[in-house]
Amino acid sequence: MNSRMTLEGISDGKVYDIEDWVAADAGGCNGCSACCHDVGDLVVLTPFDIYEMTRRQKASFDDLLVDKIELREKNRIWLPHLKMQEETKRCSFLNEEDRCTIHGQRPNICRLFPLGRVYEDDDFKYFLQVGNCTKPSLTKVQVKEWIGIENYAENKAFILAWHRLLKALTFRLKFVRDEEELAAINQYLLDTFYRKLVKEGEDFYVAFAKCLPEAKNQLNIL
Ligand code: SF4
Ligand code: SF4
Repeated sequence: MNSRMTLEGISDGKVYDIEDWVAADAGGCNGCSACCHDVGDLVVLTPFDIYEMTRRQKASFDDLLVDKIELREKNRIWLPHLKMQEETKRCSFLNEEDRCTIHGQRPNICRLFPLGRVYEDDDFKYFLQVGNCTKPSLTKVQVKEWIGIENYAENKAFILAWHRLLKALTFRLKFVRDEEELAAINQYLLDTFYRKLVKEGEDFYVAFAKCLPEAKNQLNIL
């Protein structure tokens, strides 16, 4: 979602900030898991999402790639997404009772629903997707409580920096003609930010900030 113009028709027409109140709370999903079905192309995972999953699940990035997540390509960049089960299209993290088995570490995009992000002027705010939750009425909740993420300021700074990096890389890849070079760039991105970013005992945000300048240099972007 890149512009307020594109929000027309899918939102309530308002933009919310972290302190605002918004009618987003389904009040418990009571057995519904509709928004956890067929979202494989929507839930793109950031390095922070993968850090949270691997840390708490005691699994590596490559372990998750076996049956929980998968790589998908957009704008010539391969990034991990949630993997849906083949026949049912249910998210791989849903259990038989239709509960998310990684609720505490669920990806940032899952935390937001039915909110989405709208990016503008190197910042983002939130919008409310209307008609996507199966509940007929949602109650008001403060955005920061709804998202419920620790260290919000650091998390937001990371999301913005990651968004800028992917935007710059998308532009850079327009000029890459050689498929081997393209594959090497994608491999570097996955290794650097998803496989090897955080060392044992290290803080995610510190590790990301430390790695970013050299990664930009290697990727040949500003
Ligand atoms: S990770 Fe959890 S919240 Fe997100 S789609 Fe899968 S089951 Fe639903
Ligand atoms: S669609 Fe609404 S009620 Fe159903 S699982 Fe998602 S948030 Fe809960």
